[in-house]
Amino acid sequence: MYKHHSALGVALSLKPAAPVTLIRPQAAARAARFFSQKFPGKSLYAVKANPTPELLKTLWGAGISHYDVASIAEVRLVAKTLPRAKLCFMHPVKAEEAIREAYFQHGVRTFSLDSLEELGKIVRATSGATDLELCVRLRVSSEHSKLSLASKFGIELSEAKELLQATRQVADALGICFHVGSQAMTPHAYTQAIERVRAAIVDASVTVDIVDVGGGFPSSYPGMEPPPLEAYFHAINRAFESLPISYSAELWCEPGRALSAEYSSLLVRVEKRRGNELFINDGAYGALFDAAHLGWRFPVQLLRPEANETDMEAFSFYGPTCDDMDHMAGPFMLPKDIKAGDYVEIGMLGAYGCAMRTEFNGFGATSICEVADEPMASLYREEAPLPRKSNVIKLSR
Ligand SMILES: *Cc1c(COP(=O)(O)O)cnc(C)c1O
Repeated sequence: MYKHHSALGVALSLKPAAPVTLIRPQAAARAARFFSQKFPGKSLYAVKANPTPELLKTLWGAGISHYDVASIAEVRLVAKTLPRAKLCFMHPVKAEEAIREAYFQHGVRTFSLDSLEELGKIVRATSGATDLELCVRLRVSSEHSKLSLASKFGIELSEAKELLQATRQVADALGICFHVGSQAMTPHAYTQAIERVRAAIVDASVTVDIVDVGGGFPSSYPGMEPPPLEAYFHAINRAFESLPISYSAELWCEPGRALSAEYSSLLVRVEKRRGNELFINDGAYGALFDAAHLGWRFPVQLLRPEANETDMEAFSFYGPTCDDMDHMAGPFMLPKDIKAGDYVEIGMLGAYGCAMRTEFNGFGATSICEVADEPMASLYREEAPLPRKSNVIKLSR
């Protein structure tokens, strides 16, 4: 793959007629290093946020060795792409066939569950294996997150005792996991959830070997700029350390968004302008599902050699399909003289953007270009650049 210096360079030199996914492996590697060095436990990458093999290899190379997979197709993909990776099958409702294949063919030993029924399935499908790591998913509040994950999965605290005790009987290692919802805007979401873990442990009087605080770590979007990730890590560490089992338990997390959001952006062309509506060549059925259906705002920039960033106006987007729902309300702030033929970069689509693309209505094909410039927003930029060889200062002890 030819590597371009910048998004602007791709627009000017290729003048692409179809959308282009711009990838920034250096940004994903920086996020992975941040989590592997600063999270006070183990970081699993939640593959569903963006399963592209190039990204998986980048994360692996930057220190992520554990992967949270949720379907047998994700199990197969990661097993094939990263044969030495440790896979954790963290969907609480699985097909028995999927559990069996994961256990016997791909060496998966870690599974999550939120019911006795699922526990029975796991025991049957693994022929009563004695080397299982089983994580009971607790239901917690999603009140601090932009995207709720509180309704579908997780056992209520009041019912957790029986399931924890039954799972303890079967499991080699017992874990408790939860998910506070995606894009959690305050560390408090995690401390609250860990308090619920404490109550579950005390109530069931079981030894717990793993506390998995799930995903939900935020990224930066217009109007949704979160506190620094260190504040989350600090709050989680303090709450975990105060649990009665912390001396013997491992702490895990499962970031999806935070490890992948900065990896990709999208280069689109304006095909038509109608007032402050721009008809662009990607949309709700492409990488912009969240922009259309959740009203999520992504950073945008006009790619012209000398774009005038002073006279900005609010625009909305229509995608390329014939469907009225292919509409992204924004507002997206762009120069007021933007016109058909202009190129726009839409940033922060590495998580739940490029992974959601369909081919509806004959659209959806994109090419991929690697670029070397910075992502449009970053939570990791303050990390000091590595010193160049000539500037390395040797410290002696
Ligand atoms: C989706 C998901 C994640 C990742 O969530 P983010 O909000 O992207 O960090 C982690 N764990 C589980 C079980 C999930 O379903």
